[in-house]
Amino acid sequence: MYSESHCHLGDMSLGDIREAEKMGFKLLLTSGIDLPSSEQSITTAGRHEIVKSCVGVHPWYADEYNDDVGDKFRELARTPECVAISEIGLDFIGRMTHEWVREDRFIDPKIQYHALDAQLGIARDLKMPAIVHDRASGQEMLEILIDSGNTDTGLAIHGFSKDVDYARKCVDHGIMLSVGLRTIQAGDPIYLKAVAETPVEYLLTETDSSKPEGVITCCEHIGQIKDLPKEDVGAACTRNLQRLIGL
Ligand SMILES: [Zn+2]
Repeated sequence: MYSESHCHLGDMSLGDIREAEKMGFKLLLTSGIDLPSSEQSITTAGRHEIVKSCVGVHPWYADEYNDDVGDKFRELARTPECVAISEIGLDFIGRMTHEWVREDRFIDPKIQYHALDAQLGIARDLKMPAIVHDRASGQEMLEILIDSGNTDTGLAIHGFSKDVDYARKCVDHGIMLSVGLRTIQAGDPIYLKAVAETPVEYLLTETDSSKPEGVITCCEHIGQIKDLPKEDVGAACTRNLQRLIGL
């Protein structure tokens, strides 16, 4: 069995979901990046048994977060379809605009910190896990997460891309690390070492796309590093994700 801890399915068709089920997918967490896509994720999750929703404002659009949006997220997050607050985080590298144009300019850090802090607060209030995008330097994000108290309600780093020290700190605080297909395929030795040293009980899998089948290749890569069949990696990561969202 396989699972996506972080994907963006949009309004994926029933046919595509059936295909994923045939390949062994048990759970797909589709994530919003702003208010409309968060509402969409609830609708998609409502249509398909194996799809669950995450609501949040992405750091690329942190300037769209305000108290009204936060109230709307609280409402959406109380529906049975929603299992986590995401996609939230920090990105000091650049951004994709809504028109999907790459920009080096990122949203003012003060605005990003505020949106992150407020949305972590929603997760704590509703006792829900948060799945976090970390493109800040070093371990800054981990310091924020550990200080926030969200370690009590569940945390995962989506698209984990850092080193062994970062991974160890996550494991020490019960924070899960989600391995993305593109990152593991890129094969940076520092990253591969971090994946190798992280116990499989703390790993999740994702494609960050609308094509879940990539998770199977991701499990193959993890399996090569850990000397496990891809099916065992997929099963472990699916159980970890179920544990994170309390299923
Ligand atoms: Zn994403």
